[in-house]
Amino acid sequence: MTDCIFCKIIDQEIPSYKIYEDDVVYAFLDISQVTPGHTLVVPKKHVTDIFEYDEKLASDVFARIPKIAKAIEEAFPEIEGMNIVNNNKELAYQSVFHSHFHLIPRYSKNDDFSMHFGNHMDQYTPEELTAIAEKIKKQVK
Ligand code: AMP
Ligand code: ZN
Repeated sequence: MTDCIFCKIIDQEIPSYKIYEDDVVYAFLDISQVTPGHTLVVPKKHVTDIFEYDEKLASDVFARIPKIAKAIEEAFPEIEGMNIVNNNKELAYQSVFHSHFHLIPRYSKNDDFSMHFGNHMDQYTPEELTAIAEKIKKQVK
């Protein structure tokens, strides 16, 4: 896609610190390096976000993620964990609109990275949770 920074990186029109490439994905260092080794895995096919994946593309892309995660772990044996993050649409912090997965190695509690999962279970009755689950369940195709 023209005017997509990640398509330009995949096509070598813009430089990147490449880690891995095959017919399905391109993996390279995120320029922000939230932690050392912070890597992006992007499908070569331009899809904006998770809502544009079909089953085949999703399975092909995710099939590559463990081996890249393991390579990062091997390269930095001091790693204590890894967050894999996929932001979809602006409200959810997506800033580049070519879908990508962040692999963020974690070294310590002092890493400059955080995620907050609020707990709102006390605001729901079991019936309301059942209704929410049913509403989504009906849409699974
Ligand atoms: P997100 O906010 O989830 O859409 O993530 C986009 C990521 O792309 C950010 O973490 C940026 O640091 C990263 N990024 C943007 N431009 C480049 C680039 N030219 N090379 C490597 N990473 C980039
Ligand atoms: Zn693109």
